[in-house]
Order: sequence, then structure tokens, then C-alpha cells
Amino acid sequence: MLKTEVKTFSMLIDGQWTESSNGKTFDSVNPADITDVVGRFPAGTTEDAIRAIRAAEAAFESWSNTAPSKRAEILKKAASLLENRVEQYAEELTREEGKIIFLARAEIKRSAATFRFYAEEGLSFGGETYPVDDANSVVYSIREPLGVVSVITPWNFPISIPSRKIAPALITGNTVVFKPASETPLIALRLVEALVEAGLPAGVLNFVTGSGSQLGDPLATDPAIKAITFTGSTETGRAIQNKVSLTTRTQMELGGKNPIIVMEDGDIDLAVNLTIKGGFDLSGQACTGTSRVIVMRAKADEFVSKLVEKTKQLKIGNGLDESVEVGPLANERQFKTVSEYVRIGQEEGAKLQIGGMRPEGELYEKGYYLQPAVFTDVAPNMRIAQEEIFGPVISVLTVDSFEEAIRVANDVEYGLSASIVTKDIATASRFAKRIQSGTVKVNRTTTGNLINAPFGGLKNSSTSTFRESGRVGLEFFTQIKMVYLGY
Ligand code: NAP
Ligand code: MG
Repeated sequence: MLKTEVKTFSMLIDGQWTESSNGKTFDSVNPADITDVVGRFPAGTTEDAIRAIRAAEAAFESWSNTAPSKRAEILKKAASLLENRVEQYAEELTREEGKIIFLARAEIKRSAATFRFYAEEGLSFGGETYPVDDANSVVYSIREPLGVVSVITPWNFPISIPSRKIAPALITGNTVVFKPASETPLIALRLVEALVEAGLPAGVLNFVTGSGSQLGDPLATDPAIKAITFTGSTETGRAIQNKVSLTTRTQMELGGKNPIIVMEDGDIDLAVNLTIKGGFDLSGQACTGTSRVIVMRAKADEFVSKLVEKTKQLKIGNGLDESVEVGPLANERQFKTVSEYVRIGQEEGAKLQIGGMRPEGELYEKGYYLQPAVFTDVAPNMRIAQEEIFGPVISVLTVDSFEEAIRVANDVEYGLSASIVTKDIATASRFAKRIQSGTVKVNRTTTGNLINAPFGGLKNSSTSTFRESGRVGLEFFTQIKMVYLGY
């Protein structure tokens, strides 16, 4: 195929499209075909990050005093622009990140819906009045924006995660410096472009691209940064958390090791389907992806043989092909890490039933393709049962009772999402009560959450401060001022 010339894109600082202060760039590459360069982006520096912060700081006064209805109008217009371009943006998302086109379309639509949701919800989000003995007074709270907010996001949901952070930040009157993952700057840029085209004033949203370890420091430590909303690995989240000042608010959405428990009374075919979907959609690269199956011994053989059979049938390939079910991993680092876990699992004595290798064929040599893997004979203390793999690798653990299942499920450092397959309402209710997880599912995939409901994890999956998403997602971006008014 003849490759067209690679297009060079810009950062956005104070309303100006700009290159890096040192003139350097980096490439965003298609993981399905690494000869396809999706775009060239500025390798931003700390100097650029500081300029972006100053611009956001200068824009705050005016934006925070802009009529809420005007802010809402801009968010809704941006939503429409995204919706109008679903096909183009979905294709770009798939080329840049690898997920199948069906899921890419859903992600663009979800991002637009998120902007609409916050445009509405933000308009009825305010303070409260409080009962007071003094009859000649009124006591009430005001919710005020914080100031400049850093938005730092991962590549796996490269537009929907930024949307669920940027929309509530903007509607409540904050200004933003947004740094997307270096794997997926193009789709992040599309979001920024939509907001600019919708009429967002200069400086309200600034966009810096480049390596987080190179330019990330000011986004955490500059005194103007009042809050950081971050989604990514627990390791990076911890490093940022350790750097921030006493008064910088943080919201960290981190890793997971999400289990699905399969009870004896559960529908085994359903359990298999939920495992395939939760574990292998997005090639297992979802923070809420299913990573462990904890199955009752009596049903283990049936479950495993059906799971292996279905895994065998999955069509792996370039996500732009509508018939493909599993795309490539997002980048080389992902490919190496996941392959390494496949090796570790075997070394630890688990049994690899299927997958874990690059499929054979010319198509697969050009990208980071890996056949989804299923391990059995996994012990709870093995690394493949404890650590986040973030790839299409399922570990099956066999247990003898509900009590044991709960113990195994909870025996990890994470607590993001968990599911159970059962027909018994008492078992489901006990599970919901005892599982250490921010999201609990019954007869549903561990993946997926509503725009209008809170989202976040327990233990090392999230900072235990503010939930994202839903109406409560607005709380992080505002602070309360109390007014005692006597008359
Ligand atoms: P990552 O390596 O931690 O990167 C996340 C973001 O942080 C990227 O934009 C990255 O920039 C930036 N970054 C890296 N070092 C930084 C530093 N020193 N200062 C400031 N920013 C820095 O995570 P990832 O590999 O992109 O994403 C995968 C992880 O995200 C998994 O652990 C997954 O579980 C988690 N995740 C969690 C949720 C959730 O809601 N809980 C959702 C999705 C994903 P560069 O790209 O330039 O390095
Ligand atoms: Mg890429």
C-alpha cells in the first residue's frame, strides 16, 4: 500500500496552535500495522507545560464568570460536532489505538453523550441552604470552581476518559491543561478541536503532547494547579500523588485485577460469554477487564472446555475490518509485557490452555497481535493471579465454596470491578456486600459503567477521595464556601 505523507499536528496553548519549544516531535503509530504512522506530534517540554498552565491561569477569571448556560451551550455544540464525525473519528481511534471499529464508534458516541450529560447536570448543581435558629438570617453554601485543573489520561479509552474529566471541569468553571497518553494524541486532539470549534475561549482548555515523564512535573507541582484528575497505572498515579502539595486535590483512577465468580447454579454459557467479552474485548486492555475467573470445582471442566472452544473461534485482526473481534495490543511495550506474563504463568506452573502467542500469518507480522490466552491450574498467590496484566490473559482459579471464592477474589491489592454468575439472589446479595470492589456486577461483564452513575475503585484502584462520572463527578471540580447572611 502506498503511504501518504505523515501529517504534523500541534499543541494548543492560549488559543494558539503551537509546536514544541524545542521543535522535537514524536509519532503516533498504528498498532495493527506499524508501518502506518497516524500522525506526528510536538514532543512538549516542561517549558510548554508551564506556558499552558499560565494560559489556563489567565483564562480562569473570565471563564469562571461566564454564564453557566453559555458554558453548557459550548459543551453541547462540541457533542454535536463529535456526533457528526463519528465515522472519521472512530476510524482514527482504531488506527491509533487498535480497538475494533465497533467499539471505537461506541466510544466517540459515549464521549459526545458525556458532554451532553454534564451540560445538563452542571446547570442544576449548586449549594444547599441550612436550617438556622436565627430567624433573621440565611445560611447557604456556594459551589465554586477550583481554578486550573490538570487532566492526565491513558491510551485505552483515549477520548471517553478525557471527556468524563474535561466536561465536568469546564461546566463548573475551571480551566484545564490536558495531557493525553503519548500513544493516542490524535483522538485527544479531535476532542480539543471540537471544543475550540464550539466556541471555547482561548486559554480555557490547553493541550500539551509529549512524554509524561518529560513534561509531567509542572502539571503536578505548579502552584497554580489546584487539582489533578488522572487515569493510568497505579505506579504513575503513586508517583504523581507523592509530588503534590498539601492543598492540591487529586482524583486517581488506577489499575485493576477484576474477578468473575462462577457459582454452581450459574448459567455456564453466560459465564463463558461474559468472560470472553470482559476479558478479551479491547484485547483485555480495560481497567475493568476480566482477569480472573473463580469457578466452583463442580463446574470447572465444563466452563474451561467451553471457554477454550470459544476463544479458539475469535477472529483476530485489524480493528478496521468489521468482522474482526479482537484487535492488536496498543503498542510494543504492551506486547512485551503481556507476552512476559504468559511466560511467567508457565514458569509458575499454571497450565496454558490456549493462546499467548502471536498468531501465524503475514497480517500478524505487521502489528502487535496476540492470541487471547487462558490459564488453568492457577494458584491465588501466583503473579498472574495477583498483578495487573492489562492484556487478553484469563487466569482460571478453582474453588470449593462461596467463602473460598470471596477470599480469593479479595486477596489482591486492587478493587475496581467484580462480577458473579448466579441465579440465587441471596448469593448475589452476599457477594455485593462482601466483595471489595467499587463496581459490583451480577450476571454482567466486569467491564462497562454508566455515564450517569458514579465510577471508581477501592484499595489500590483509586484514591478514596472523589468518584468520577455521574452527578457526583462534578464534586471533584468544585469547593464549598459557606455564607452566613444576617438581615
Ligand atoms: P500510564 O503509563 O500510567 O500513563 C497514564 C498517563 O500518565 C499518560 O498520559 C502518561 O503519559 C502519563 N504519565 C506518565 N508518567 C507521568 C509523569 N511522571 N507525570 C505525569 N504524567 C505521566 O498508564 P497507561 O499505560 O497509559 O494506561 C494503562 C493503565 O491505566 C492501566 O494500569 C489501567 O488499569 C489504567 N486505567 C485505569 C482506569 C480506571 O478508571 N481505573 C481506566 C483506564 C485505564 P505518556 O503516555 O506520555 O507516558
Ligand atoms: Mg498508537
